[in-house]
Amino acid sequence: MAAANPEPVLILGGGLMGLAIAHQLARRGDRVLVLSRRRSEAAGFVAAGMLAPHAEGLSGDLLELGQRSLERIPAWVEQIEADSGLRCGLRPCGIVVPFRSAAERDAYPTAPFGQSLDRVDLAREIPGIGEGWPAGLLFAQDGQIDNRRRLMRALERACVGLGVTFQEGAEVLSLEQGATGALQGVRLRTAEGDEQCLAATKAVLACGAWSTQLLPELPIAPVKGQMLSLQGPREALQRVIFGPGTYLVPREDGLLVVGATSEAQAGFSEGLTPAGQRQLQEGIAALLPAATSWPPMERWWGFRPCTPDEGPLLGTSGIPGLWLAAGHHRNGVLLAAITAELLAAALSPAGPDPAQTRQLERFRWDRFR
Ligand SMILES: Cc1cc2nc3c(=O)[nH]c(=O)nc-3n(C[C@H](O)[C@H](O)[C@H](O)COP(=O)(O)OP(=O)(O)OC[C@H]3O[C@@H](n4cnc5c(N)ncnc54)[C@H](O)[C@@H]3O)c2cc1C
Repeated sequence: MAAANPEPVLILGGGLMGLAIAHQLARRGDRVLVLSRRRSEAAGFVAAGMLAPHAEGLSGDLLELGQRSLERIPAWVEQIEADSGLRCGLRPCGIVVPFRSAAERDAYPTAPFGQSLDRVDLAREIPGIGEGWPAGLLFAQDGQIDNRRRLMRALERACVGLGVTFQEGAEVLSLEQGATGALQGVRLRTAEGDEQCLAATKAVLACGAWSTQLLPELPIAPVKGQMLSLQGPREALQRVIFGPGTYLVPREDGLLVVGATSEAQAGFSEGLTPAGQRQLQEGIAALLPAATSWPPMERWWGFRPCTPDEGPLLGTSGIPGLWLAAGHHRNGVLLAAITAELLAAALSPAGPDPAQTRQLERFRWDRFR
């Protein structure tokens, strides 16, 4: 283990990226302090937990990043489970994408990575799937993880066990820069309402959809998503169904997580809407009619951090000493493993290796200029 750095690295935001990065830094012996405004608002506690670079139909650099992360997830989860003593609920169950026609299926961007299904195959993969889906793709390599009930808690526990300190309820108000422009610290409001300055020369901005409140030049906007869950019979559904506008994610115990609206115009408006909930109900009826009679459990919402190309902003920022891990939009759970690895490498004394440098370059924050 490397010698401990006397000054802690500050992680701004204790959501999924903040925790995943804190965990990797702590594993190699860095001192880490996580400043977290509100644990419960993190999209990490909202997401469906699909690990779906192929089912999502990603393309280009983002598909490659997603595939690299998917490869790393089993080993990453193993580390978290060993460090926390908690299960993360990783389920390599495959994802089925149903289509209205064979032509639609064959035109899907990731079709070459999937197994082509006709109606008979579809009905075998998803017993009880609705009428009106004559074709599908099975991505057996995609899967899911129980982020809401397991992964986030396991990451928190792993971090605490490795000596990461947390300031919960601490809102970072501004970044403080010295005469050269380099990071000098942050100003924050504590849970008790006191304002403080905290000196720091190394920090990672991981404030999800709220990241622009600290660094307005970042091209990140919130995209609201509403969700709900139903309790299905155990093993009623084995694979995730990723339909247009609605997906159904079956957990091991039969809980069915249903998502999600995609509301770019909603800003940070809180709460459920009748239209959003209706969209999900109609989606359930179209995809798996039997599930319309399963008992409802929970309803919730959250905010995806979206960038113009829907890819994350990773690595250095315009402020020396401040690194970025933000803007993961609808694939942050999938991308958490590779993000933590890349940021840990970027912050290490040796720096990233050539392959990591290439990936960081592709997801620079200023690539849109
Ligand atoms: C409805 C929905 C469904 C999704 N489904 C999936 C899915 O199936 N698969 C997938 O891969 N991804 C999914 N995602 C995306 C994924 O959840 C996000 O990309 C990911 O959680 C982003 O992680 P983050 O750490 O950047 O942000 P978050 O997890 O949102 O964490 C940000 C944290 O920063 C804190 N913060 C903000 N401002 C400050 C401040 N000034 N000071 C201190 N703390 C601050 C917040 O309190 C919050 O806790 C989904 C997202 C949503 C909303």
